[in-house]
Amino acid sequence: MGARPPNFADANSPAERAEFSILGVPFDATSSFRSGSRAAPNAMRDASWNFETYLMEHGVDLTDIAIHDCGNLEDFARPQDMVEAVKEAVAGILKSRSFPMILGGEHSLTPGVVAALKESGAGGPQGFGVIVLDAHMDFRDQYLNMPQSHACASRRTAEMVGPESVVPIGVRSVSREEMEQINKDFGDRFRFITADRVRQEGMAASVKNALGLIGKDRIYLSLDIDCLDPAYAPGTGTPEPFGLTALDVREAIGILAPRLVGFDIVEIAPNYDSGNTAALGARLVREVIAAVHASRRAGEPVSR
Ligand code: MN
Ligand code: MN
Repeated sequence: MGARPPNFADANSPAERAEFSILGVPFDATSSFRSGSRAAPNAMRDASWNFETYLMEHGVDLTDIAIHDCGNLEDFARPQDMVEAVKEAVAGILKSRSFPMILGGEHSLTPGVVAALKESGAGGPQGFGVIVLDAHMDFRDQYLNMPQSHACASRRTAEMVGPESVVPIGVRSVSREEMEQINKDFGDRFRFITADRVRQEGMAASVKNALGLIGKDRIYLSLDIDCLDPAYAPGTGTPEPFGLTALDVREAIGILAPRLVGFDIVEIAPNYDSGNTAALGARLVREVIAAVHASRRAGEPVSR
Protein backbone atom coordinates (compact mmCIF):
# COMPACT_ATOMS: atom_id res chain seq x y z
CA MET A 1 0.00 0.00 0.00
CA GLY A 2 1.43 3.39 -0.97
CA ALA A 3 1.83 6.26 1.44
CA ARG A 4 -1.21 8.45 1.81
CA PRO A 5 -1.05 12.15 0.88
CA PRO A 6 -0.26 14.29 3.93
CA ASN A 7 -3.37 16.47 3.61
CA PHE A 8 -6.91 15.82 4.79
CA ALA A 9 -8.83 13.93 2.10
CA ASP A 10 -10.22 16.14 -0.70
CA ALA A 11 -8.60 19.27 0.76
CA ASN A 12 -7.13 20.39 -2.57
CA SER A 13 -8.15 24.04 -2.71
CA PRO A 14 -5.69 26.92 -2.48
CA ALA A 15 -6.06 28.94 0.72
CA GLU A 16 -7.49 32.06 -0.95
CA ARG A 17 -10.48 30.28 -2.48
CA ALA A 18 -11.27 27.81 0.30
CA GLU A 19 -14.78 27.62 1.75
CA PHE A 20 -13.31 25.51 4.59
CA SER A 21 -9.81 25.64 6.07
CA ILE A 22 -8.42 22.78 8.16
CA LEU A 23 -5.69 23.56 10.70
CA GLY A 24 -3.92 21.00 12.90
CA VAL A 25 -2.72 21.90 16.39
CA PRO A 26 -0.56 19.02 17.69
CA PHE A 27 -0.38 20.28 21.28
CA ASP A 28 -1.01 18.19 24.40
CA ALA A 29 1.41 19.58 26.98
CA THR A 30 -1.23 20.35 29.65
CA SER A 31 -2.96 16.95 29.50
CA SER A 32 -3.30 15.77 33.06
CA PHE A 33 -4.15 12.08 32.94
CA ARG A 34 -2.70 10.63 29.74
CA SER A 35 -1.43 12.62 26.79
CA GLY A 36 -1.17 11.72 23.13
CA SER A 37 -3.56 14.09 21.36
CA ARG A 38 -0.61 15.66 19.53
CA ALA A 39 -0.84 12.69 17.16
CA ALA A 40 -4.53 13.27 16.40
CA PRO A 41 -4.40 15.81 13.52
CA ASN A 42 -2.34 13.46 11.35
CA ALA A 43 -4.24 10.37 12.54
CA MET A 44 -7.49 12.03 11.41
CA ARG A 45 -5.88 12.99 8.10
CA ASP A 46 -4.82 9.37 7.55
CA ALA A 47 -8.27 8.07 8.47
CA SER A 48 -10.04 10.63 6.26
CA TRP A 49 -8.98 8.78 3.09
CA ASN A 50 -10.98 5.69 4.06
CA PHE A 51 -14.37 7.25 3.34
CA GLU A 52 -16.30 7.79 0.13
CA THR A 53 -16.12 11.42 -1.03
CA TYR A 54 -19.90 11.42 -1.47
CA LEU A 55 -22.03 11.90 1.65
CA MET A 56 -25.36 10.40 0.68
CA GLU A 57 -27.34 11.93 3.56
CA HIS A 58 -26.45 15.43 2.37
CA GLY A 59 -26.29 14.84 -1.38
CA VAL A 60 -22.85 16.43 -1.19
CA ASP A 61 -19.60 15.26 -2.75
CA LEU A 62 -16.57 16.64 -0.95
CA THR A 63 -14.63 16.83 -4.22
CA ASP A 64 -17.06 19.63 -5.23
CA ILE A 65 -16.25 21.71 -2.12
CA ALA A 66 -13.25 24.04 -1.85
CA ILE A 67 -11.34 22.72 1.18
CA HIS A 68 -7.82 23.80 2.13
CA ASP A 69 -5.52 22.02 4.56
CA CYS A 70 -3.23 24.56 6.29
CA GLY A 71 -1.13 21.75 7.79
CA ASN A 72 -0.07 21.76 11.44
CA LEU A 73 1.15 24.51 13.72
CA GLU A 74 4.49 23.79 15.35
CA ASP A 75 4.49 21.93 18.66
CA PHE A 76 4.78 24.63 21.30
CA ALA A 77 6.10 24.02 24.81
CA ARG A 78 3.92 26.60 26.57
CA PRO A 79 0.13 26.67 26.23
CA GLN A 80 -0.03 30.47 26.08
CA ASP A 81 2.25 30.45 23.02
CA MET A 82 0.08 27.81 21.36
CA VAL A 83 -3.13 29.80 22.08
CA GLU A 84 -1.56 32.96 20.61
CA ALA A 85 -0.44 31.07 17.46
CA VAL A 86 -3.92 29.54 17.05
CA LYS A 87 -5.48 32.98 17.32
CA GLU A 88 -3.13 34.38 14.66
CA ALA A 89 -3.62 31.44 12.27
CA VAL A 90 -7.41 31.50 12.63
CA ALA A 91 -7.45 35.28 12.10
CA GLY A 92 -5.77 34.61 8.74
CA ILE A 93 -8.36 31.96 7.85
CA LEU A 94 -11.21 34.34 8.75
CA LYS A 95 -9.62 37.15 6.75
CA SER A 96 -9.93 35.02 3.62
CA ARG A 97 -13.59 34.46 4.57
CA SER A 98 -13.02 30.75 5.08
CA PHE A 99 -14.68 28.54 7.71
CA PRO A 100 -12.13 27.44 10.38
CA MET A 101 -11.97 23.71 11.19
CA ILE A 102 -9.39 23.12 13.91
CA LEU A 103 -8.01 19.64 14.64
CA GLY A 104 -6.51 19.26 18.14
CA GLY A 105 -4.55 18.57 20.11
CA GLU A 106 -6.12 19.25 23.43
CA HIS A 107 -8.98 21.51 24.46
CA SER A 108 -6.68 24.34 25.50
CA LEU A 109 -6.67 25.56 21.86
CA THR A 110 -10.35 26.61 21.82
CA PRO A 111 -9.90 30.04 23.49
CA GLY A 112 -7.47 30.98 20.69
CA VAL A 113 -10.10 30.24 18.04
CA VAL A 114 -12.82 32.07 19.98
CA ALA A 115 -10.54 35.12 20.43
CA ALA A 116 -9.94 35.32 16.67
CA LEU A 117 -13.65 34.95 15.91
CA LYS A 118 -14.52 37.66 18.41
CA GLU A 119 -11.97 40.07 16.97
CA SER A 120 -13.26 39.39 13.47
CA GLY A 121 -16.77 40.44 14.54
CA ALA A 122 -18.29 36.98 13.99
CA GLY A 123 -22.05 36.95 14.54
CA GLY A 124 -22.39 40.69 13.90
CA PRO A 125 -23.62 43.08 16.60
CA GLN A 126 -25.13 40.31 18.77
CA GLY A 127 -21.94 38.24 18.63
CA PHE A 128 -21.94 34.46 18.78
CA GLY A 129 -22.51 31.74 21.36
CA VAL A 130 -20.43 28.64 22.03
CA ILE A 131 -21.76 25.11 22.41
CA VAL A 132 -19.22 22.71 23.90
CA LEU A 133 -19.83 18.98 23.64
CA ASP A 134 -17.82 17.64 26.57
CA ALA A 135 -17.95 15.16 29.46
CA HIS A 136 -16.37 17.90 31.58
CA MET A 137 -17.16 21.47 32.52
CA ASP A 138 -13.60 22.71 31.81
CA PHE A 139 -14.51 25.66 34.04
CA ARG A 140 -11.59 25.64 36.45
CA ASP A 141 -9.92 29.01 36.91
CA GLN A 142 -6.53 27.28 37.01
CA TYR A 143 -5.40 23.69 36.86
CA LEU A 144 -1.98 22.62 38.11
CA ASN A 145 -1.18 26.36 38.21
CA MET A 146 -1.94 26.74 34.49
CA PRO A 147 -4.79 29.09 33.52
CA GLN A 148 -4.37 27.90 29.89
CA SER A 149 -4.85 24.22 30.83
CA HIS A 150 -7.35 22.14 28.86
CA ALA A 151 -9.32 21.87 32.14
CA CYS A 152 -9.90 25.66 31.98
CA ALA A 153 -10.82 25.99 28.28
CA SER A 154 -14.53 26.74 28.65
CA ARG A 155 -13.96 29.26 31.44
CA ARG A 156 -11.41 31.14 29.30
CA THR A 157 -13.98 31.07 26.48
CA ALA A 158 -16.73 32.35 28.82
CA GLU A 159 -14.51 35.23 29.86
CA MET A 160 -14.50 36.38 26.22
CA VAL A 161 -18.11 35.87 25.18
CA GLY A 162 -19.89 35.88 28.57
CA PRO A 163 -20.93 32.88 30.69
CA GLU A 164 -24.52 33.16 29.38
CA SER A 165 -23.23 32.44 25.87
CA VAL A 166 -21.39 29.19 26.66
CA VAL A 167 -23.37 25.98 27.18
CA PRO A 168 -21.60 22.62 27.66
CA ILE A 169 -23.66 19.57 26.61
CA GLY A 170 -22.95 15.99 27.66
CA VAL A 171 -21.44 16.82 31.06
CA ARG A 172 -21.05 13.99 33.59
CA SER A 173 -17.85 14.77 35.48
CA VAL A 174 -16.99 17.71 37.71
CA SER A 175 -15.21 18.06 41.02
CA ARG A 176 -17.12 19.44 44.00
CA GLU A 177 -14.66 22.32 44.24
CA GLU A 178 -15.13 23.22 40.57
CA MET A 179 -18.94 23.15 40.92
CA GLU A 180 -18.81 25.34 44.04
CA GLN A 181 -16.49 27.78 42.30
CA ILE A 182 -18.80 27.98 39.28
CA ASN A 183 -21.80 28.69 41.50
CA LYS A 184 -19.87 31.31 43.43
CA ASP A 185 -18.50 33.08 40.35
CA PHE A 186 -21.42 32.84 37.93
CA GLY A 187 -24.54 31.58 39.75
CA ASP A 188 -27.51 31.27 37.38
CA ARG A 189 -25.58 32.85 34.53
CA PHE A 190 -23.85 29.54 33.84
CA ARG A 191 -25.97 26.74 32.36
CA PHE A 192 -25.07 23.25 31.20
CA ILE A 193 -26.84 20.11 29.99
CA THR A 194 -25.83 16.76 31.40
CA ALA A 195 -25.38 13.53 29.42
CA ASP A 196 -28.25 12.03 31.42
CA ARG A 197 -30.53 14.83 30.29
CA VAL A 198 -29.57 14.26 26.67
CA ARG A 199 -30.50 10.61 27.12
CA GLN A 200 -33.85 11.49 28.68
CA GLU A 201 -34.89 14.31 26.34
CA GLY A 202 -32.98 13.51 23.18
CA MET A 203 -30.22 15.48 21.47
CA ALA A 204 -32.55 17.60 19.32
CA ALA A 205 -34.38 18.93 22.39
CA SER A 206 -31.08 19.43 24.21
CA VAL A 207 -29.54 21.48 21.40
CA LYS A 208 -32.69 23.58 21.03
CA ASN A 209 -32.67 24.10 24.78
CA ALA A 210 -29.05 25.28 24.61
CA LEU A 211 -29.83 27.63 21.70
CA GLY A 212 -32.71 29.10 23.67
CA LEU A 213 -30.45 29.69 26.68
CA ILE A 214 -27.79 31.35 24.50
CA GLY A 215 -30.23 33.43 22.47
CA LYS A 216 -27.85 34.15 19.59
CA ASP A 217 -28.12 33.21 15.93
CA ARG A 218 -24.48 32.27 15.37
CA ILE A 219 -22.70 29.45 17.18
CA TYR A 220 -19.17 28.15 17.51
CA LEU A 221 -19.07 24.38 18.10
CA SER A 222 -16.28 22.85 20.16
CA LEU A 223 -16.30 19.06 20.16
CA ASP A 224 -14.30 17.39 22.92
CA ILE A 225 -14.32 13.76 21.82
CA ASP A 226 -14.75 12.60 25.44
CA CYS A 227 -18.38 13.82 25.26
CA LEU A 228 -18.91 10.47 23.57
CA ASP A 229 -19.19 7.29 25.54
CA PRO A 230 -15.84 5.43 25.59
CA ALA A 231 -17.63 2.64 23.72
CA TYR A 232 -17.57 4.95 20.67
CA ALA A 233 -14.44 6.95 21.43
CA PRO A 234 -11.98 5.07 23.67
CA GLY A 235 -8.97 6.89 22.21
CA THR A 236 -8.98 9.92 24.48
CA GLY A 237 -7.08 11.25 27.47
CA THR A 238 -9.88 11.17 30.06
CA PRO A 239 -12.54 8.62 29.08
CA GLU A 240 -15.82 8.98 31.01
CA PRO A 241 -18.48 6.25 30.91
CA PHE A 242 -22.22 6.95 30.39
CA GLY A 243 -21.72 9.37 27.51
CA LEU A 244 -23.27 10.46 24.23
CA THR A 245 -23.57 8.28 21.15
CA ALA A 246 -21.98 8.96 17.76
CA LEU A 247 -25.47 9.51 16.35
CA ASP A 248 -26.21 12.09 19.09
CA VAL A 249 -23.18 14.08 17.96
CA ARG A 250 -24.12 13.81 14.31
CA GLU A 251 -27.63 15.03 15.16
CA ALA A 252 -26.22 18.04 17.03
CA ILE A 253 -24.03 18.93 14.04
CA GLY A 254 -27.03 18.70 11.72
CA ILE A 255 -29.13 21.07 13.82
CA LEU A 256 -26.31 23.56 14.35
CA ALA A 257 -24.87 23.55 10.81
CA PRO A 258 -26.78 26.61 9.46
CA ARG A 259 -25.55 28.67 12.42
CA LEU A 260 -21.91 27.66 12.64
CA VAL A 261 -19.06 30.18 12.48
CA GLY A 262 -16.34 27.63 13.20
CA PHE A 263 -15.57 24.20 14.63
CA ASP A 264 -12.92 22.38 16.58
CA ILE A 265 -12.46 18.72 17.48
CA VAL A 266 -10.11 18.02 20.38
CA GLU A 267 -8.79 15.43 22.83
CA ILE A 268 -8.48 12.44 20.50
CA ALA A 269 -5.48 10.40 21.68
CA PRO A 270 -4.94 7.83 18.91
CA ASN A 271 -2.51 5.65 20.86
CA TYR A 272 -5.23 4.34 23.17
CA ASP A 273 -7.21 2.42 20.59
CA SER A 274 -6.81 0.72 17.24
CA GLY A 275 -7.76 3.72 15.13
CA ASN A 276 -11.52 3.87 15.60
CA THR A 277 -11.60 7.18 17.48
CA ALA A 278 -9.47 8.95 14.85
CA ALA A 279 -11.73 7.47 12.17
CA LEU A 280 -14.80 8.77 13.99
CA GLY A 281 -13.10 12.16 14.34
CA ALA A 282 -12.33 12.30 10.61
CA ARG A 283 -15.90 11.34 9.80
CA LEU A 284 -17.26 14.07 12.11
CA VAL A 285 -15.00 16.65 10.43
CA ARG A 286 -16.42 15.57 7.07
CA GLU A 287 -19.93 15.71 8.55
CA VAL A 288 -19.46 19.34 9.61
CA ILE A 289 -18.11 20.30 6.17
CA ALA A 290 -20.98 18.57 4.35
CA ALA A 291 -23.72 19.81 6.69
CA VAL A 292 -22.52 23.44 6.67
CA HIS A 293 -22.05 23.41 2.90
CA ALA A 294 -25.47 21.81 2.31
CA SER A 295 -27.21 24.32 4.59
CA ARG A 296 -25.58 27.23 2.73
CA ARG A 297 -26.51 25.76 -0.62
CA ALA A 298 -30.10 25.41 0.54
CA GLY A 299 -30.07 28.95 1.97
CA GLU A 300 -31.51 27.60 5.20
CA PRO A 301 -32.78 30.42 7.39
CA VAL A 302 -31.43 30.63 10.91
CA SER A 303 -34.39 30.46 13.26
CA ARG A 304 -34.77 29.86 16.96
MN1 MN B 1 -12.72 19.50 27.35
MN1 MN C 1 -13.51 16.51 28.33
